[in-house]
Amino acid sequence: MSSAKNAAVVNYAEKKHSVEIREIPVPEIGEEDILLEVENVGVCGSDLHQWTSDHSWPVNYPVVLGHEFGGKIASVGDRVTGWKTGDRVVSETAAIIDPQNPMSKTGLYNLDPTRKGFGYGVNGAMTRFVRVPARCLHSVPEGLPFEEACLTEPCSVAYNAVAVNSHIKPGDRVIVIGPGTIGILCAAVAKICGGDVAILGLEKDRGRLEIAKSYGVTPIINDASEWARKRDGLGADLIIDAAGISATLKIAMDLVRPNGQITKVGWGPTPCNFSLDPLVQKNVRLQGSFSHNWPIWEKVLGLLSSGTLDVKPIIGGIWPITEWHEAFEKMHSGEVVKSILKPV
Ligand SMILES: [Zn+2]
Repeated sequence: MSSAKNAAVVNYAEKKHSVEIREIPVPEIGEEDILLEVENVGVCGSDLHQWTSDHSWPVNYPVVLGHEFGGKIASVGDRVTGWKTGDRVVSETAAIIDPQNPMSKTGLYNLDPTRKGFGYGVNGAMTRFVRVPARCLHSVPEGLPFEEACLTEPCSVAYNAVAVNSHIKPGDRVIVIGPGTIGILCAAVAKICGGDVAILGLEKDRGRLEIAKSYGVTPIINDASEWARKRDGLGADLIIDAAGISATLKIAMDLVRPNGQITKVGWGPTPCNFSLDPLVQKNVRLQGSFSHNWPIWEKVLGLLSSGTLDVKPIIGGIWPITEWHEAFEKMHSGEVVKSILKPV
């Protein structure tokens, strides 16, 4: 097996469109790692950003893309306990952490500033075999197929933003800005939490807003002020900003009610040129949300397994990794919400 090579989607340079299929050897594993044979890997907005080179994080070129994945354990390192060959697993994304970092010691290793993830810091999963530290693993419940289980990661991003970093009560009125994968999943989780939920997009997002409707949320194009104020004229209890630009914070400050909250989960490197005074005047709490940790993954796997959270509506298709370009394009153009790849 060690001499065999497998096709991988490799991001090889900083330059725009520096992604191609390369044949790579099966990775060597350390004594605390397992070798995972990938069944499915989701394409993330961040994979697209590295492809178009408008990402804002350091990338260890050349690197295999892909951090939303699941598969079967192909071999286990000498010091790994509790896992065996053939186990069905998904992997968290924090491939490298410093266990001595104070954030790691409090269980928030996702916030360890030295952490490095699959797909940018170390080789990711858009290939047949990936090396995974055993501490990253979660068991996939029986009956949950890999094409759904591989989306545990974006679901965990949404769960952290909505159910952990936001305070949401049944009956709260929630507006999600941005109908991408994370936005739609945030809307779905807010719905599970008992919220009355709307999702805001642009004219070009019509298709994705239609998909969001299957989660029982109200799609809104361009302007959500009427929906925000229709109950008592004051605005929504919670705004989840899942758009990929920073300027939407202004919309969030406008739509939120006094004493309400804004949770920002969408990245946007451009500086804002507006006043934050509405935050002060309305006594609003602004909360960032990043990544996820072990307990969140366990909760999400439970929700996926019971069908309480259903990712099927957002899956736009499954492509062999050699057809990564089409899968990336379809997501990039907004034609599909989520593309999934399968190793060849
Ligand atoms: Zn992702």
